[in-house]
Amino acid sequence: MSRVLVLNCGSSSLKYRLFDVPATGEPLVVATGTVEQIGERVPGAPHDHAEALAAAMSDLPLDGLTAVGHRVVHGGLMFSTPALVDDAVVAAISDLVPLAPLHNPANLAGIEVARALLPGIPQVAVFDTAFHRTLSPAASTYAIDAETAERYGIHRYGFHGTSHAIVSRRTAALLGRPLDEVNTITLHLGNGASACAVEGGRSIATSMGLSPLEGLVMGTRSGDLDPAIIFHLHRVAGMPFAEIDNLLNRRSGLVGLAGVNDMRTLLTRRAAGDRAAALAFDVYCRRIRSYVGAYYAELGRLDAITFTAGVGENAPAVRAAALAGLDRLGIAVDPARNDTPERGARVISPPDAPVAVCVVPTDEEWEIASQTLGVVAGGAA
Ligand code: AMP
Repeated sequence: MSRVLVLNCGSSSLKYRLFDVPATGEPLVVATGTVEQIGERVPGAPHDHAEALAAAMSDLPLDGLTAVGHRVVHGGLMFSTPALVDDAVVAAISDLVPLAPLHNPANLAGIEVARALLPGIPQVAVFDTAFHRTLSPAASTYAIDAETAERYGIHRYGFHGTSHAIVSRRTAALLGRPLDEVNTITLHLGNGASACAVEGGRSIATSMGLSPLEGLVMGTRSGDLDPAIIFHLHRVAGMPFAEIDNLLNRRSGLVGLAGVNDMRTLLTRRAAGDRAAALAFDVYCRRIRSYVGAYYAELGRLDAITFTAGVGENAPAVRAAALAGLDRLGIAVDPARNDTPERGARVISPPDAPVAVCVVPTDEEWEIASQTLGVVAGGAA
């Protein structure tokens, strides 16, 4: 049996999950938890990640721990697979901080603290970007001056890779077909949101780019917009770039349009006749539909569309609206199947529809644990 601790450090939060993984059979979640407000001046809040992690670990049964898996947001061009952490890997993640200034420092803090507290236990970095390293140059290149792009690492890296990976695999399993024969559009709709075209298990297109700002409308992020909006706000509104950064990352998306970032509240307000909520919902769903159309064209043949994460798994209204009117493309949602309170992986399109529309719960923590065990087993071989 193996025991794996998964750590996901955000700028002011720490999420952890401890798994026991038998040689055969289902993994067991031994413990799970979240520490928030790290470093915030709130009574009782931990000062830093070291304090938060030490407190969390003192309550965990860590005897017999096999490995620690860390979620790392940005792996740049360097990491196409998970990496066993050593000083060189730490330095590489540190070099990528300019590309992920909010995320990579927090991920690094988790790695440093876990290395110090658990000496001798293998630590593995699992990157959000790695799954998208299969993008072709045509899919990952921005059409700007090539030399400038090369010098500053301007490239579509893509994110949410662990989620798109596990969800596309589970979609093939749900359909009872080999992964390499199934083409899927995965729609990860959580607080952050991204779409991915997965061809036979390989990511060939994804909506997030250099950073997690691009693509779908999100809880607080704008997703796609005309880059000239940024220059306009700078020139005409006199906004400094830091303020525009904050506007697009934290005060846009659903919260910018309707004042709420939680889809549940948005749906309640929309049902009560709130026009801002209705418009936000329409903008959100329309963007999803545009990506479905684009990725259908990229894939050529589409077998499945899969919704996942908080909104994707729990909001039938979003699923129905995003795919409404696409029957001629073989895409339809069965209202009864869509509205069922069932929670597991399931098909919500009508029987025999050419494209299976699915809902598949994501499990990024388990994907990180399983990739971590893969690295540790590979290293021992
Ligand atoms: P995640 O980032 O995957 O945890 O997703 C979080 C988001 O999922 C929340 O901000 C909500 O907008 C959304 N969500 C969670 N539960 C529901 C629900 N029952 N109905 C609609 N949206 C939900």
